[in-house]
Amino acid sequence: NSNSPLGARGHQNSKTAFKQACEVIPGGVNSPVRAFKSVGGQPVLIKKASGSRITDIDDNEYIDFIGSWGPMILGHAYPPIVEAIQQAAVLGTSYGAPTLLETEMAELIVSMMPSVEMVRMVNSGTEATMSAIRLARGVTGRSKILKFAGCYHGHGDSFLIKAGSGALTLGLPDSPGVTESTARDTLTANYNDLESVEKLFAQYANEIAAVIVEPVAANMGVVLPKNGFLEGLRKLTEDNGALLIFDEVITGFRLAPGGAQEYFGVMPDITTMGKIIGGGLPVGAYGGKKEIMLQLAPAGPIYQAGTLSGNPLAMAAGIVMLKTLKENSDIYSKLARHAEMLENGLKEGLDKAGIKGVVNRVGSLLTLFFTENDSVESFEDVMTSDKDRYAKFFRLSLEAGIYMAPSQFEAVFISNAHTDEDILATIAAAQEAMKQL
Ligand code: PLP
Repeated sequence: NSNSPLGARGHQNSKTAFKQACEVIPGGVNSPVRAFKSVGGQPVLIKKASGSRITDIDDNEYIDFIGSWGPMILGHAYPPIVEAIQQAAVLGTSYGAPTLLETEMAELIVSMMPSVEMVRMVNSGTEATMSAIRLARGVTGRSKILKFAGCYHGHGDSFLIKAGSGALTLGLPDSPGVTESTARDTLTANYNDLESVEKLFAQYANEIAAVIVEPVAANMGVVLPKNGFLEGLRKLTEDNGALLIFDEVITGFRLAPGGAQEYFGVMPDITTMGKIIGGGLPVGAYGGKKEIMLQLAPAGPIYQAGTLSGNPLAMAAGIVMLKTLKENSDIYSKLARHAEMLENGLKEGLDKAGIKGVVNRVGSLLTLFFTENDSVESFEDVMTSDKDRYAKFFRLSLEAGIYMAPSQFEAVFISNAHTDEDILATIAAAQEAMKQL
């Protein structure tokens, strides 16, 4: 019964295994948010996943709404991707030399992402954003980067200033270990507040190399750009000789085949990508106009490299993923329909339970904020959320077989493997949980 998956053992195997992991892995995990710290309890360890379902080492099955934090847009273990990886693996797992697969991948990305004319593959979203700002600095000859409070761009030093995602979840938006000089070169403005950006451009005239933004903020929970915000960033960067970087690590290939830039019709100079493009294998990419990308070594002087970059397994998986999305654009309407169903079900649950909350949604990304506010449009609004209430909601949902993000400040990711039944079961469980909050 998928509505109450916990057998007699509950989470016993996970408890034992997590304790063992904590002996040899800091905090027991290889990425902080996995540790369930902000929602209490202990994480469940996963042994397998298929379609919309994920199974822990106690054999409890959950309907999964994390989807590896975005990559699994076609569901887990999507057979054509598994097959492509298997076929690639027997030909060797890495060569450190160019392959046909890399050109095919680059051609696909260029054909889908409207502003991208050339692309360089890396191994994670973090690498993509770190490389993108080096490129922006190299091209403009300027040092400072402007980012937004609550946006997350991976764990590069420059970005761990007022950062979102796990850093926000754990209350560590400004990490120790980031030097003062790095911090000085990172300016932070407020998401959806163009005036805060204008002020920084006025204060640091001719010093800002780039503005980097999640076109839809998804690492403080989902916060949509207000009308005119992205257009305003485009104009301000142009007027001030700075580059505009869209971090599409989450939104890329998710909001539309051409990401947020296609969805909102605003074109950045540089785009960073990750997650979906690897089909679940470790991968990232950054791309943009030819004249910018040709500044990269060996074509130009700005250095960036990688032993495993363009890895054949990751390329094989990513090519199948992107081709599937490109050739089946009806997937996007199905994703949005299921996300809207869930949005409506959550809102109805709040009403029925007499609890205030806000559901922000765009396409297949959504977040339920437990806040007294009527809307959530800024980092300040996000911070009014009741984290304890979210934690309780999360735990009740998990017990009912629904695997949501273990943090108020993350998104729900809908995949093409979710069925009407999955969404209805999730709504029923969520509404039941809300009654108990
Ligand atoms: N940029 C955004 C918008 C992200 O959401 C993330 C990861 O969640 C990153 C960058 C970093 O990507 P990775 O975790 O692959 O290094």
